[in-house]
Amino acid sequence: ARQEIDLKHYIRHIPDFPKPGILFYDISTLMRNPDAWQMAMGRLARQVAPFKPDILAAVESRGFLTAAPLADRLGCGMLMLRKRGKLPGKTVSHTYDLEYGSDTLEIQHDAVQPGQRVVIMDDLLATGGTLAASATLLQKAGADVVAASVLVELTGLGGRARLGDIPVTTLLSYD
Ligand code: IMP
Repeated sequence: ARQEIDLKHYIRHIPDFPKPGILFYDISTLMRNPDAWQMAMGRLARQVAPFKPDILAAVESRGFLTAAPLADRLGCGMLMLRKRGKLPGKTVSHTYDLEYGSDTLEIQHDAVQPGQRVVIMDDLLATGGTLAASATLLQKAGADVVAASVLVELTGLGGRARLGDIPVTTLLSYD
């Protein structure tokens, strides 16, 4: 059996990014270590597989990094949730409030079939605003959002409450 790796060891903490006073959890250092990244994707796959997704919904942009290898491992599809104006063709959008201002997420209008089982993927859960907006958009499009999955959860912010009944799986938690 392969040596167990403490994946937290590979998450780098960068103070004052993107603004003074904010501590940024950086997954770049996890991704660049082949053993750690492979182990992370294996654990993620074991967490997500029980939800039997038809398709993974990847949140721009770091959600793309986990959804693509996971879709390949699980044998399901993936779709992109993108910032406004990035997706070609007809789109469905959802605008949501941020601390200052607002943001818009979009999917292609035919990205999901009604009733399809969708798991949302992102790198990190903080206040939960991004995942909650993603879930709302997917539900608007007719999807059955069965779970959300992140690598890192900042539990002290209580973000998972914003997801209501939708279960959230986490690889690494920080207070
Ligand atoms: P929330 O909407 O407050 O839960 O913030 C989560 C979103 O912001 C995710 O899309 C993350 O990629 C991004 N984010 C917030 N804080 C961090 C961080 O410390 N590291 C990496 N991404 C972060």
